[in-house]
Amino acid sequence: MQQLTFLPEQRFEWREAPTPVLGSDHEAIVRPVAVATCDLDRLIVLGVMAVDRPLPFGHECVAEVVDIGDAVTSVRPGDLVSVPFQVSCGQCGTCLRGHTGNCETTGPMAMYGLPGNNQGGFLSDVVRVPFADAMLVPIPAGISAESVASLSDNIADAWRTVGPALAEQPGAPVLIAASSASIALYATAIALALGAERVDIVGGNSFLRGKAEALGANLLDKQFPRKAGTYPITVDASSDVAGLQCALRSTEAEGVCTSIGIYFTETTSLPLLEMYMSGIRFHTGRAHARTAMEPALELVRTGRLRPELVTGETASWDDAADAVAAHRSKLVISRPTLTPSGSQVPA
Ligand SMILES: [Zn+2]
Ligand SMILES: [Zn+2]
Repeated sequence: MQQLTFLPEQRFEWREAPTPVLGSDHEAIVRPVAVATCDLDRLIVLGVMAVDRPLPFGHECVAEVVDIGDAVTSVRPGDLVSVPFQVSCGQCGTCLRGHTGNCETTGPMAMYGLPGNNQGGFLSDVVRVPFADAMLVPIPAGISAESVASLSDNIADAWRTVGPALAEQPGAPVLIAASSASIALYATAIALALGAERVDIVGGNSFLRGKAEALGANLLDKQFPRKAGTYPITVDASSDVAGLQCALRSTEAEGVCTSIGIYFTETTSLPLLEMYMSGIRFHTGRAHARTAMEPALELVRTGRLRPELVTGETASWDDAADAVAAHRSKLVISRPTLTPSGSQVPA
């Protein structure tokens, strides 16, 4: 089969790879039909995050099920499903606690389209899913594959920054320190969908600020101030130490700050004394995608979240190599389903 592969000198090429086949009764073979770039993909393409190559590429997708093992009960061929970027068994103690990114069966770095224990990329003819019932999330009727292509990672990642905190403090205002990443935009839309009184954006490039304002956010300073106010819920989606510090200092006493930013060089520049005196809760870490996918998808199903508004670029499957190499914002690559519209569970 053909697989889009990231190569030295930042090149992409469709390369021949062995076609995956069912390896157990619990597996599925799926055919990606809408693949999105993750915010991290742009850093990989730009060389900000160094990766070993050749690297099969793509780790956010909606796919059509083409084959299932005898023990699979939750999906059947033709179904449209979201595939989490992390492989998880759904049955070990860690998975049962919702920490599906650290599955004990597969190890924490079993992922599609990323370095670590690479399971193949979603920009492939077909992909093998080792634990179909545990991993695959059916897409309800009426939701297009393209609109939720990022559910596998970035939409789920955004949900965890505000969903649990807003459940604890309904209606609370939210501050998001942003750069150029789509997660800040999804977090904006999700916070407003969940009833946040308002979402304030600090930082961000012009493209992000324009999109954020269209989604309903208030725009604060473009540069990160020392402190942007006092908020019960703050998010650092900046990957910028000044943005992280601003979010931490802007978190009110006993409030919660979640950072999805990846800091490739170690920083000790945290305002620990202020954090101590305020008693804030600070969380950083990889998303547990599978756990966060369903509550985020429910917001889409009920019409409260429209992730397609975050998409900045689209391309056809045939143009994927050039489109991925040049992408600057959320890119969605798609191709037709084999069945007329894919089969979807009733909404
Ligand atoms: Zn990602
Ligand atoms: Zn597990």
